[in-house]
Formats: sequence, structure tokens, C-alpha cells
Amino acid sequence: MTILDKKLEGTGTVLILGHVRPDGDCVGSCLGLLNYLENAYPQTKATVCLEAPAGKFGYMKGFDQIQTIFPQDTSYDLCICLDCSDKERLGAGAAAFQLAKDTLCIDHHITNRNYCAENVVEPNASSTCEVLFGLMDEAKITKETAACLYTGIVHDTGVFRYSCTSSKTMNIAGKLMDKGIDFSSIIDDSFFRKTYVQNQILGRALLESITFLHGKCIFSVVRLKDMDFYGVTSKDLDGIVEQLRVTEGIHCALFLYEVEPQIFKVSMRSNTALDVAKIAGYFGGGGHVKAAGCTMSGSIYDVVNNLSGHIEKQILELEAKEEEKEG
Ligand code: AMP
Ligand code: MN
Ligand code: MN
Repeated sequence: MTILDKKLEGTGTVLILGHVRPDGDCVGSCLGLLNYLENAYPQTKATVCLEAPAGKFGYMKGFDQIQTIFPQDTSYDLCICLDCSDKERLGAGAAAFQLAKDTLCIDHHITNRNYCAENVVEPNASSTCEVLFGLMDEAKITKETAACLYTGIVHDTGVFRYSCTSSKTMNIAGKLMDKGIDFSSIIDDSFFRKTYVQNQILGRALLESITFLHGKCIFSVVRLKDMDFYGVTSKDLDGIVEQLRVTEGIHCALFLYEVEPQIFKVSMRSNTALDVAKIAGYFGGGGHVKAAGCTMSGSIYDVVNNLSGHIEKQILELEAKEEEKEG
């Protein structure tokens, strides 16, 4: 019996929440759990509440049932928070979370603050979907549930490329494939496919990228006026930081987009032992060692300058350690 079974036994209403600006792992884990409950715990009445996810995730069963208006004064028997490292990241879901009779967090962020009554946090897992799979009865995972979990794993591993991918991740992905999912369509349609304007804004961001710290770092920024010009929203900016990261010789990539005038969402990626979760944490954000984010205010120059100081400090420390080893 897993902690999920213990919490669900005899439970009536379940509220499933994720983090603000939900990504593939967030939507995949929330809908994966919704579909699982329908099959394994039919006595529960589950509701998924999220900020409106990108339409490309529409193939997942239950996508149309996602509520984007958050309950304010309903007291659910159990609130399950997925892929969300702290209460603030629940966004408008925080009100209902506070009123819930019991809470459970399932996550894989190293920066998780253990804010629920029970917290299942596995920082070495590729994704929340991987952690969730471990809490489920495999026999009760339907093809529909499998498609959701596979989506989360694909997105958080960059299609099995990032260092968070383990042989366990691959084994789980294999078991999900055995459920009969259309894995090539999932990967193509939700991960690689881009609209014309998404490609245009990606191209623009690459064209305007700038390297710094002797070519070890790269950054690019998309301003509100650029998003207006191309007719895109923040949902259309997926993958830009990844393309910056794979630039030859780069230790650390930064991508900024403006959420409000002079307020920037920062995405950071590391190719080395450089710990970007630590830097994001310093500025009130969080994430993983090699992929993290935060929100910062000020001019672009100030934001990059502030981040650059922390990156440089870590690069110097790492280089000193290397020299010591060689020494
Ligand atoms: P992103 O750069 O937005 O793709 O995020 C990279 C990783 O860091 C993801 O696992 C996010 O969940 C996490 N992350 C991003 N922004 C924040 C934040 N403000 N607070 C905590 N975690 C974050
Ligand atoms: Mn996520
Ligand atoms: Mn995740």
C-alpha cells in the first residue's frame, strides 16, 4: 500500500493542483492522476484546477475538464499538489489548498519546501510523472493514464536527453509504451511541433542572443513589445532556453521574458556542475540543479548583471576545485 492508497482510502472529494504556468510534467501528472482515480478509486470525486494549459496538450483525456477558475471557499477532503515545490507556486490554488482537510505533495524538485501534511519528493526522479508512477498500481494504469504520464516524462527529460533521465526512467517509459500509447505522436505533437510564429520568435531570440563571461554564458530576452509584434504569449516560448543551452562551449544559458513591464521570468540551464537551482533560490525561485527559474524585476541590464555575478562566482569556485584536483 503506497501513501497514495492510504490517503485515498475512504476519501470523497479530491482537488488536484499543479504549479503556475503549467508545463508538460504538470499537466501530465494532474491528468494522469485524474484518469487513474477514475479507474482505481471510482468512489472519489476529483477536480483538476490549473491555469489554462497550452492547447497542444489537448490529446490527454480529461483536458476539457480542467477548471481554470479556482475554488475559493470549498473544503476538499484531500488536496494533491503535483510538480509544485512551494505554496506560492500554486498561484490562485493556494486558497483551496489552505481549506483542504488533508494535503499530499508529489514532486521531484530539490528545492521543495515540504509544505503539505505528507510530501513525497524524489529529487533524483526525472519528473513528477515518474514519482507518481511509483505510487500507482501498474495493473490499474489505463492507456489514457499512460499517455499522460509519458507526456510528463518526455517533457521533463527533453525526450530522454537530460541528465535527470535514468535507466529507471527508461524502464517506466517502456512500461507505459506497453499500454499501447501513440508515443511518436505524443513526442512530435506536444514537444517538437512549432507554429510558424513560435519558430519566428525562436529565431529572433537566437539572432539577438549575447554571450558573456568569456563565451561561457549566453542570454536572450523577449520583451512584451516583441510578443505583441509576433502575436505570441509566454506559452509560445518553450524550447528557446534549450536551444541556447546547446550552443557550443556554453556552461550556462539564460532566457528572460517580460511578464509585466520591467518584470522578467528567468529560465536558467546548466551544462556543467554549475548549480542553477542555488542561484534561482537566491532570487526567490527554485528548480533543479541543471534547470531552474525565478522571477526578477529591474532593467534587463540589472537582471543579467545580478545573475552574472552569481554564475561567475560558481564558475570560479568550480575552476579552483578542478585546479586543486589536478594540482
Ligand atoms: P523553467 O525554466 O520555467 O522551464 O523552469 C525550470 C525548472 O525550474 C522547472 O522544474 C520549474 O518547475 C522550476 N522553476 C521555474 N521557475 C520557478 C520558480 N519561480 N520557483 C520555483 N521553481 C521554479
Ligand atoms: Mn513543471
Ligand atoms: Mn517536473
